[in-house]
Amino acid sequence: MNNTSDKKRQVRMITFFHDIEQNSELNVEPNTCRQVVNGFLALEKKYNVPATYNVVGKLFGQQPDLIKQIIDAGQEVAFHSYNHQPDWNPKYYADEIHLCRRVSNSPRGYRSPRAQWNQNTLKTLWELGFLWSAEDDVRDEPYFIYEGLVRLPISGDDWPLYVGHITVDGWLESFANFMKTRRYVAFGTHDFVFCHSMEERMCVYESILKMAVENQARLVTFSKAADLFRCGEFPNDGSLDTISSHENSHKNRLPMYLVNIGRRLLKPFRSFSKKILFR
Ligand SMILES: [Zn+2]
Repeated sequence: MNNTSDKKRQVRMITFFHDIEQNSELNVEPNTCRQVVNGFLALEKKYNVPATYNVVGKLFGQQPDLIKQIIDAGQEVAFHSYNHQPDWNPKYYADEIHLCRRVSNSPRGYRSPRAQWNQNTLKTLWELGFLWSAEDDVRDEPYFIYEGLVRLPISGDDWPLYVGHITVDGWLESFANFMKTRRYVAFGTHDFVFCHSMEERMCVYESILKMAVENQARLVTFSKAADLFRCGEFPNDGSLDTISSHENSHKNRLPMYLVNIGRRLLKPFRSFSKKILFR
């Protein structure tokens, strides 16, 4: 890798996040999930790391002390649906966001269960005053996905750990790799995943926080990342213009007429290379 691409891919920002859903779907002990939250908050305080807690909306009413605890610790609270239904599907998407807004006007962001969402999700979020949406995405840097709603792409979470696809060492390594290859890293955990082997997993989470701090990455909540994006923190570097799966993705990047001119210029070369390579 040469110096230019090193500079281009250098990590500028990391968001640590937690999806807090207790026993919404799985048979875990809510009190153990609360201990996990205590553990996350203690480590983040120790290393002075900001984080965003995406909490299932119904917990705002059922356990207001949990919400207060997170906010009092100086961390951000956002939503992770209202009920987190086991059969999460499009018929719930908009209603769940409305239910969340009814319980609190404060959160500025939202993350869908199973990273499953649609255009209606984005429209409802924007109409109800949300400013960011954090989901798995083909892109790896923030962008405007719908009107002024900022998409914050997720790099990875602890799901592979939960299903046994990787060990804790592999999980740590995956975080190190994201740090090397991305300008924006959003890395997350679930309360219920850490209910299992809590001590070992907290230990690795501590190593991850240490690594982020030692590498002098800029550590921000999701809301701060979205604000910095709006202020031009992620200028177009030309590496993402070929991805067109999201219709609004051109905003804040190259003006569309320039992208179209580029596409038209490239067209003869594309059809030529297709003829050569795929006949
Ligand atoms: Zn979830």
